[in-house]
Amino acid sequence: MQWQTFLDAVNCKLRNGRIFQEIKRNRRSECEVMSYLIGDPDVRKLMLLWLQEQLQSRESKSSSKAKQLKDLGNKEFQRKNYASSIPLYTKSAQYAVADELSIAIANRSAALYYMDNFKDCLKDIDLAINIGYPKKLLYKLYIRNAQCYIKLKNRVMAEVAIEKVEEIVNACNEISAEKKDDIFKEVSLLKSLASNLENIAENDSSRTQLCQRPDVAFESNANFPFASAALDCKYTPQKGRHVIANRDIQKGQVLFVEKPFAFVVLDQNDSSSFCRHCCHPYGAVPIPCKTCVGTLYCSSECLDNAWSGYHKWECPGAQMRMGQQIGIAHLSLKVLLVGSTTEDKERFNEVQKLVTNIDKVSPDDLLVYGITAVMLTMYLSMYTDFFTTVDLKKSFADKFIDSSIDFNCDVTTESGKQLYVSSFLLRHTLQLICNGHAITKLSLDAQENDKVATVHQERIATGIYPAVSMMNHSCDPNIINSFDDQYLIVKATKDIPAGGEVFNCYGPHFRRTPRDERQEILRNQYCFTCTCEACTNPELQYFLERFSSLKCLECSGAVFKISGSLSCFDCGATPALNHNSELREAQNLFDAAHVCIEMENDDEALNKLKQCLNIRRSILYKHHQDIINTLDLIGKVYAISGRWLDSISYLEHVITGIGERFGTDSIELANELNKITDICLPYLQEETNTRTKQYKNALKKTRRFLDHAKQIMDLNYGPWNSGFQEIEKKAQQLSAILRNFNI
Ligand SMILES: [Zn+2]
Ligand SMILES: [Zn+2]
Ligand SMILES: [Zn+2]
Ligand SMILES: [Zn+2]
Repeated sequence: MQWQTFLDAVNCKLRNGRIFQEIKRNRRSECEVMSYLIGDPDVRKLMLLWLQEQLQSRESKSSSKAKQLKDLGNKEFQRKNYASSIPLYTKSAQYAVADELSIAIANRSAALYYMDNFKDCLKDIDLAINIGYPKKLLYKLYIRNAQCYIKLKNRVMAEVAIEKVEEIVNACNEISAEKKDDIFKEVSLLKSLASNLENIAENDSSRTQLCQRPDVAFESNANFPFASAALDCKYTPQKGRHVIANRDIQKGQVLFVEKPFAFVVLDQNDSSSFCRHCCHPYGAVPIPCKTCVGTLYCSSECLDNAWSGYHKWECPGAQMRMGQQIGIAHLSLKVLLVGSTTEDKERFNEVQKLVTNIDKVSPDDLLVYGITAVMLTMYLSMYTDFFTTVDLKKSFADKFIDSSIDFNCDVTTESGKQLYVSSFLLRHTLQLICNGHAITKLSLDAQENDKVATVHQERIATGIYPAVSMMNHSCDPNIINSFDDQYLIVKATKDIPAGGEVFNCYGPHFRRTPRDERQEILRNQYCFTCTCEACTNPELQYFLERFSSLKCLECSGAVFKISGSLSCFDCGATPALNHNSELREAQNLFDAAHVCIEMENDDEALNKLKQCLNIRRSILYKHHQDIINTLDLIGKVYAISGRWLDSISYLEHVITGIGERFGTDSIELANELNKITDICLPYLQEETNTRTKQYKNALKKTRRFLDHAKQIMDLNYGPWNSGFQEIEKKAQQLSAILRNFNI
């Protein structure tokens, strides 16, 4: 049974019982809550049932499965379908036992070689050698190794590999003399190929330099790890801990670069291809855990560090597919495990001190988190050696700098130990509810009917960042978060004066979520009432409503229905507007235009859209979403028919509207700017009459659009992301045009 279903049933049962009443009354600490649950025989019996069921359905390594998958891979390989053979070899490696693993990896390296992916091929060859590829076949891998380096024009490394082949073949008595002759023939061929190379190893240092992770502005902060020296962490009773600028900070400066204390990759789907230890995308060449099937890493180093740091206790759970079922509790287990092995005392304490809101969360939620903590504690004691190998005093109690936040448990008894560990699990779950941080990746996707790629953020993992967690929330923050693998990079998006507070946005942003909805989200998940500028300033209170407002006839401002009657946000007039029939007519024209576009009747579509635009402009607020959509479609139709300049003139209005709504530094605006330059560049390249004023104007505009888009991408994500690089490419195209133009 799925954990969530099981948990609901258990929760239902317990909610009418004594334990729940106790928890409702007494919940001063995690330890107090857990003391009602961890020793209760009924709760334990239920958890035992579920755990035993999971154990039975666990997924283990399987020689036969590995062989089956490898054979499928070989079939694809023989058909020269190298790309489809690679995931099959990876799957085979995941199930492989002993020798089979190195063989699956070696086969994968062959497929990579034929796909000209020499870098990954070399990586797999190394890996296969290190994990015990059969000795008598080893020469094959070194031959491939030499071939890769020859392709990469790296003479020195190719010669090293060739020497290795000779050495192995000479020393190996399992290879027949005849076979040896064949091999040496191949070796001499490789030698002559290598000797013809000038040693120009591919040099991509310029690229790595561009992609280097940034440092914090000014210098790093001795008292506030991972933060810039420009920040102080302060405490007041009303604000709790919060972050203040101790000097003037400029927009764009990097304020934090933080590695998470722990994180877990979301694995709802098998396609999430990020290393479970460092969050780096592992591409075609992941390395599976030696014991479980589903956990993949980018390198042997990550595999080893994960194993000794926490995975040895997490691995049986991975086989039982627990991670996919228990949600945020998976991360709380990992925080506990990393906490037990970490040697960084200060960091350990930063985590322990994070807010739990134990007195504010609902008792129902507390009960659910508590039950999960019981299950995980029993899991650790039944299926791992955690309780027998970890000295709880050394691994936890001794690490506390402030012992008042430690739990008061007798860890000399078995039940005391379980109470202690389960209290940590409950604490971390509570902390993660309000401090867990989504780790996102920027992804480019080309939408249908749209040649233009747009970028959006995709959540790939959840992590805990104790330093960044010190920032309070605002619905109009002055920083932005971005990620480089697991590292969280925080940049200022506004100038922040000395003494000003630095605000993060916990999720609901005033440009994306209406005020009442924001307030509710923040109360429910973070247990506070937001009093930020955007929530309290009357001018900003109905910010989002503007974009679905009517036009005020007095002042052209925005008229919106507030508690039943229409009024103007800008001049206070209370007009009795009724435009229902016009709105319907405009919508009909808009729909009809779509039909025309489908029938490729562009002129008729434009005709209808312009009528629609006229109506909408006469009655709707100037940045109304429907006006923007109409302008956007007109721009698109002009672009389809190659009337670039007309297209540009309409899309410019879209840019103004999007900037108004999402902000001039928003990724939404960058997407629009990117789109318009996709129209500008073909015009500039195709137009033969380059002496006109229009042409010169378009040149100037294009440069402005590209500069702005680049600036937004840099601020939001830094120069290492693909969106930035795409714009960079366009900027180069523009410079080529300008060069021809002699400007
Ligand atoms: Zn890794
Ligand atoms: Zn494992
Ligand atoms: Zn707010
Ligand atoms: Zn007005």
